[in-house]
Amino acid sequence: MSIAAIIVAAGRGTRAGPGAPKQWRSLGGRPVLERTVSCFQRADIARIIVVLHPDDMITGLKLFGGRVTLVAGGETRSGSVRNALESLDPKEISKVLIHDGARPFADPDLISRVINALDSAPAAAPAIPVTDALWRGAEGIVSGTQARDGLYRAQTPQGFALQPIVDAYRAADHAAGQLAADDVEIARAAGLPVTIVAGAEANFKITWAEDFARGEKLIERERKMDIRLGNGYDVHAFTEGDAVILCGVQVPHNKALLGHSDADVAMHALTDAIYGALAQGDIGRHFPPSDPQWKGAASDIFLRHAGDLAREMGFAISNVDVTIVCERPKIGPHAGAMMDSLAQILQIDVTRVSVKATTSERLGFTGREEGIASIATATLIKGA
Ligand code: MG
Repeated sequence: MSIAAIIVAAGRGTRAGPGAPKQWRSLGGRPVLERTVSCFQRADIARIIVVLHPDDMITGLKLFGGRVTLVAGGETRSGSVRNALESLDPKEISKVLIHDGARPFADPDLISRVINALDSAPAAAPAIPVTDALWRGAEGIVSGTQARDGLYRAQTPQGFALQPIVDAYRAADHAAGQLAADDVEIARAAGLPVTIVAGAEANFKITWAEDFARGEKLIERERKMDIRLGNGYDVHAFTEGDAVILCGVQVPHNKALLGHSDADVAMHALTDAIYGALAQGDIGRHFPPSDPQWKGAASDIFLRHAGDLAREMGFAISNVDVTIVCERPKIGPHAGAMMDSLAQILQIDVTRVSVKATTSERLGFTGREEGIASIATATLIKGA
């Protein structure tokens, strides 16, 4: 069973100032609505339905072609959502996310939090606890205060198991439905418990003219994001011994690797990949082999240094990928321990670390089992 997303963009809001409705205006060179829809174009969302004002259907068709399903909106927001919900086939779709067309910065983690919460709840929605003091006011004068305990600022996408929200909409009294501020209100009126998940400040709704300036700034920041790739390659020859060290893990073998340090060929390749991404030379530059203090050194010193240097230069290590080339020893049984070891040294989550192996089909020096080669790639990210 799959997930659908309904993006509601049928409004004619006037608070954002004169000109075209806000969802059609340009933000960073693309219509707001196109940005919003792109947030939901991901593997785990099977269908995207965009609800448009009947006058906007041609514009929508030109913009999206067949990438989304267009549905004509009703008189009110809740009428529009109901039209979209009724267009979904419960045999095909089990969960639905309902999102404001004017929230173009819904990030993948936020969307995942809502989807994941639906595994154990019929309804879930993002929100941010209110931290500012709250006042009531009239004619520019504070007329009272309001306790903020337990108050949240509601966001979208609001997620629901499909059948319960369809039933809730069908059961909603027409007048009450017209007044409902959002889908959570409709769900609660039908008795559905709604789980709160963490919202995101960037997931704001474009409402006023100045929100466009805020959005442009966010996009500018994304554009300034600095993404670096580095690669590393290393070879060490076999010598007499009974084990090799690869990615910090001792692997029993009928040979050892020859080198100035512990000859951890895989960790050296990865260390050079990180230095490469930073344009900071290689291991030899930071730890000269002519310096006797690095003789026999455990290579985690080198990798830790590269990781620390990345952080000092403002980069986060987004992922690393290491390939070890050898006929023997077998790497597969040790790959998990190797990934744990690299993740721990680099202080990153193990889901961002890959260690894999290949043979060279008995060709060349690795094929003749004269030594082991390794290549590695690292992705570093600064900003955003
Ligand atoms: Mg080396």
